[in-house]
Amino acid sequence: MPELFTAFFDSLKTMPLSGVILWSVLENLVILGVVLLMGDFLVRRYQQHRVTDVPDPLTWIEIGLAASCVALNALVTVAGVLLWQVGIIRVTFDANLLRVAADTLILFFVMDLAMYGFHRAAHLPWLYPLIHQTHHRFENPRPLTLFVLNPFETLGFGVLWLILLAVYPAAWLSIILYLTLNIVFGLVGHLGVEPMPGRWITQPLSRTISTSTFHAEHHLDKAHNYGFYTLIWDHLFGTLSPDYAEDFQAADEGTAVPAGGSGRAD
Ligand SMILES: [Zn+2]
Ligand SMILES: [Zn+2]
Repeated sequence: MPELFTAFFDSLKTMPLSGVILWSVLENLVILGVVLLMGDFLVRRYQQHRVTDVPDPLTWIEIGLAASCVALNALVTVAGVLLWQVGIIRVTFDANLLRVAADTLILFFVMDLAMYGFHRAAHLPWLYPLIHQTHHRFENPRPLTLFVLNPFETLGFGVLWLILLAVYPAAWLSIILYLTLNIVFGLVGHLGVEPMPGRWITQPLSRTISTSTFHAEHHLDKAHNYGFYTLIWDHLFGTLSPDYAEDFQAADEGTAVPAGGSGRAD
């Protein structure tokens, strides 16, 4: 492990709570900033490939919910570090490259399945208004929509993640790689434009990986596309949108949202 990381993790292991809170807030603010900057760049870059209509002007409700989400994500980070300090979460520090690759895949697929299950449960009529309706108030997503969540939903995802870390002692680099992938997929899903090339959904491997169109469809049609990183679970459980290929192609060709008109009607 590079010396800089060794020194950081060594100091984090015994860091007092105030320091852990400071680092966690800082980390989550940096993530928010990177998502908004990258998102703005990608939305401009691929504006000819809109999947959904341009969202309405930003409201204070979205800003408030996003701020609460960032604060709660920082709380989850603090909880994770504290659980690691007391030994409930264990992290592997001497992993070789093979172990790092394997752990990254394990975290990726286990969380993909866990979040699919959590998301489907969040759509049950008695749970939906309590934890998930807030996110669906915004049919035309923008990068900030990634953070526009009901606080219970943010905490739900955080708890799933902490449980997995407590059960499986993953390599530290895999944890960082997984968290980076999680942010990339979250951002792509809320762009409202499709950055992936047309051949994405015809190639054997890439066609099982989610796209902007895939999650945008879920915002327009709540009965399909509950997955986050892959299409595997939606394929398996019969919840993949029957319009996926058609909508992806329309976004790729720039015809999903006619000029001055609306996008798909669902
Ligand atoms: Zn969403
Ligand atoms: Zn949903």
